[in-house]
Amino acid sequence: MTNNMRQSHLFTKTRKEAPADEVSKNAELLIKAGFVHKEMAGVYSYLPLGLLVINKIIKIIREEMNAIGGQEVVMASLQERATWEPTDQWSDENVDIWFKTKLKNDTELGLAWSHEGMVTKILKEYVSSYRDLPKAVYHFQTKFRNETRAKSGIMRCREFVMKDMYSFSKDQAEHDIFYKEATEAYKNIFKRVGIGHLTYLTSASGGVFAKFSHEFQTLTSAGEDTIYRDESGVAINKEVYTDEVISSLGLQKDKLVEERAAEVGNIFTLGNRYTKAHNFTYTNEKGEEQEIVMGCYGIGPGRLMGAVVEVLSDDKGIIWPETIAPFTLHLLVLGEDKAVRDEAEKNFKTLVEAGVEVLFDDRSDISPGEKFADADLLGVPYRAVVSARSIKENGIEIKKRTEEKGKIVTVDELIGLLVTKN
Ligand code: ATP
Ligand code: MG
Repeated sequence: MTNNMRQSHLFTKTRKEAPADEVSKNAELLIKAGFVHKEMAGVYSYLPLGLLVINKIIKIIREEMNAIGGQEVVMASLQERATWEPTDQWSDENVDIWFKTKLKNDTELGLAWSHEGMVTKILKEYVSSYRDLPKAVYHFQTKFRNETRAKSGIMRCREFVMKDMYSFSKDQAEHDIFYKEATEAYKNIFKRVGIGHLTYLTSASGGVFAKFSHEFQTLTSAGEDTIYRDESGVAINKEVYTDEVISSLGLQKDKLVEERAAEVGNIFTLGNRYTKAHNFTYTNEKGEEQEIVMGCYGIGPGRLMGAVVEVLSDDKGIIWPETIAPFTLHLLVLGEDKAVRDEAEKNFKTLVEAGVEVLFDDRSDISPGEKFADADLLGVPYRAVVSARSIKENGIEIKKRTEEKGKIVTVDELIGLLVTKN
């Protein structure tokens, strides 16, 4: 059964105003449309419509991670000192975003801000031979980060779900191959969620084990980063922007444009930092002990959803790409006339049976103007209207969210249009 819903059944309603303290466009639109609820700065709950979107984003990410051999797990969010002490990351001085808590016996625990230490400890229990490598493990799991600024709506939260994947390879060459595959998988994700054309593979500082790390930066005024991008889809983060870096990447300074951007994904070469600290090695074909090379690959589905809203909305509301829209079609019935309502009910049933994901605005006593305004705010890609006029013209009035004027088609034509797309 495809996903469909009656709007009269939905507990959320659209709102005229977002909370007064909400300054970001993405959260303002998502709150007004009823996709998320703001609990406090940097903390949001996902409501039925928002959950539909985030689950579609998660599905796309999962498919791409599985395609490169990632194995899904769910690691715990409560972490102990021993998980982070070997890499000197338990102290608040070295990691300034910790949320900590205590057991009843006063033992200190941390709320996960990342999972490098934990995944290393887990893999160490199972991997010991060259035959066991390479491996890649990922999860979608809640992170807690005591972020100083939380003014970017769902793009910078203090509690948020992250997809983080960790790879373990026999040597640098094997790591490099996986890192490239992960880079391509990430590009696919941004393309599939509808912001590939605005997202740049950005070189950023790499740390001890690689010259660069790579960020996926989406051009938006809501971003917190500055990048220099060329026309081919690559960029350099301002933090490493030097003549030497520009030439080592084969770029030309006069072709680079300064832009505001939001980091929607981030991939790193971690080298042996974690594996060495946790005494995690393997034995090669000759029985010799060898170091394991690690990488990590992060994406925030919520930040991605926020970025989509930032770059694809207009002054009337959200415009979802079809791949992550909560529904494909928003079916509106206008007026209380019984014949019109019966026709709309019949159309709803036919569309659902044909496999179209439909949100049916079957609410009574709501004016056409309000229904149209809500449809624009919610941003479902197609809107179909059943009214006395459309019935007189022997069809249903269909319009894309991005179009001004609709046209009358038959229900069969509508199904043809929408079903061949999915
Ligand atoms: P930033 O520099 O924006 O704080 P980061 O370098 O801390 O990001 P990572 O730890 O590499 O980010 O996290 C991986 C991904 O998780 C980011 O690319 C982003 O998509 C997402 N993410 C990070 N922090 C947050 C947050 N506070 N709220 C929502 N998503 C986040
Ligand atoms: Mg951060």
